[in-house]
Amino acid sequence: MSELWELTAHEAQDGLRAKEFSSVELTESVLTRVDAVEDRVNAYITRTDEVAREQAREADARFAAGTATPLTGIPFAVKDLIVTKGVRTTAGSRMLGDFVPPYDSHVYEQLKRAGAVMVGKANMDEFAMGSSTEHSAYGVTRNPWDTDRVPGGSSGGSAAAVAAGECIAALGSDTGGSIRQPAALCGVVGLDPTYGRVSRFGIIAFGSSLDQVGPIGRDVEDVATILDGIGSHDPRDSTSDPAPRPDMRHYLGRDVAGKKIGVPREYFIDGMDDGVRTRIDEALRHLESLGCEVDTDLSLPMTEHALAVYYLIAPSEASSNLARYDGVKYGLSERGGSMWENMEQTREQGFGDEVKRRIMLGVYALSAGYYDQFYLKAQKVRTLITNEFREAFTRYDVLVTPTTPGVAFPVGDKLDDPYAMYLNDIYTLPSAVAGLPALSLPCGLSEGLPVGLQIIGDVGAEGTILQIGHAFEGALDEANRLAPL
Ligand code: GLN
Repeated sequence: MSELWELTAHEAQDGLRAKEFSSVELTESVLTRVDAVEDRVNAYITRTDEVAREQAREADARFAAGTATPLTGIPFAVKDLIVTKGVRTTAGSRMLGDFVPPYDSHVYEQLKRAGAVMVGKANMDEFAMGSSTEHSAYGVTRNPWDTDRVPGGSSGGSAAAVAAGECIAALGSDTGGSIRQPAALCGVVGLDPTYGRVSRFGIIAFGSSLDQVGPIGRDVEDVATILDGIGSHDPRDSTSDPAPRPDMRHYLGRDVAGKKIGVPREYFIDGMDDGVRTRIDEALRHLESLGCEVDTDLSLPMTEHALAVYYLIAPSEASSNLARYDGVKYGLSERGGSMWENMEQTREQGFGDEVKRRIMLGVYALSAGYYDQFYLKAQKVRTLITNEFREAFTRYDVLVTPTTPGVAFPVGDKLDDPYAMYLNDIYTLPSAVAGLPALSLPCGLSEGLPVGLQIIGDVGAEGTILQIGHAFEGALDEANRLAPL
């Protein structure tokens, strides 16, 4: 071990508890790393060095007082749609370029309560709409494995920061793949929890029936620990599940022999990279060697409709959620004309092209005359997709698929072709539409770039997913990989 910023969160915890180093020293190591690489990566929209130093001092006081938790003193990147009191929160948009929230999101409250350290607000596609972090008003984030390539998105800043050593762990958000896809492309671990598992209070909304905050880390244990730390029930989010939450770390290290794994053939499309296919085939053999029963004779025919369903429901909800940016209460405000002119100017100036495209899609799908044909139909097909998964989980503990059809693509490659960009999410959209938990973890490289393995579970089955992910990771010995930046 050469530098403190290279540690996983649990390794850092061990060192902090053993007083081998302080949180202040750990944090300074991370901040020095940010200084060294941030101009090549651009993982952060806003750096919060002074907040981090203050929180690190508080963390050290907690270690001294014996009140530390597993996240105390750990430097985090926080996706910039997670509202942080007193710290600018932009959602990657010009619209919120000067927005300093007067309150904290539930998840940031939990991080603070746990004594974690915030290094900065991570870059993202504007309002989380995108798969490459190129749709940010604050510049593209670069993939630390190859800075000519995208880190994925929309939580590209969070995933890149973890992979580049610009934090130890991060929070992202996933609507249709935005935690898992960038985690896969950056070679780190990301978990999209069951819908309702993590509070959306203080999360700038995109698609409210889909949005979930979740952890991105260097190994499965870190991701499990973070979910325990941020996942408490919250009455301020009416969709927050009040059921008791089992301790996720309890599942780690348990035997996975006899676990039934379904591999749906619809996730192995013609257009997928050969290198990805090879790594996934190897991963399946690894799972078999751990004693799992892998069944590749599974068909989920509704899978192919998830893309259409998602791109009707998510934009519909977005068009409603983004109606609040009218230049009146907060955010950008163009003045000088009539009320209608001001609103039009505010939205014209404040939103980027992709956001405008989504709003137009959504408004169209919801409009009188088209509502039944598009939005209502999409909701019905959503139920069919959910039922198909539900039926599969009567026979399998988890489903295993690739996270993405290809590795990280070059910056600019898909920018002129929204449909090609949307296709990057074909493997992450179905579980999102059904509200299911899904993990992406590294399963090797193709052409020198990371490949992600996706493990999808039934509602509330995060424990099983993490158990299998943890066993798999141990078998491959690929924990704690950092990009060779
Ligand atoms: N890439 C998908 C989109 O553009 C998903 C984004 C997300 O999960 N926030 O909508």
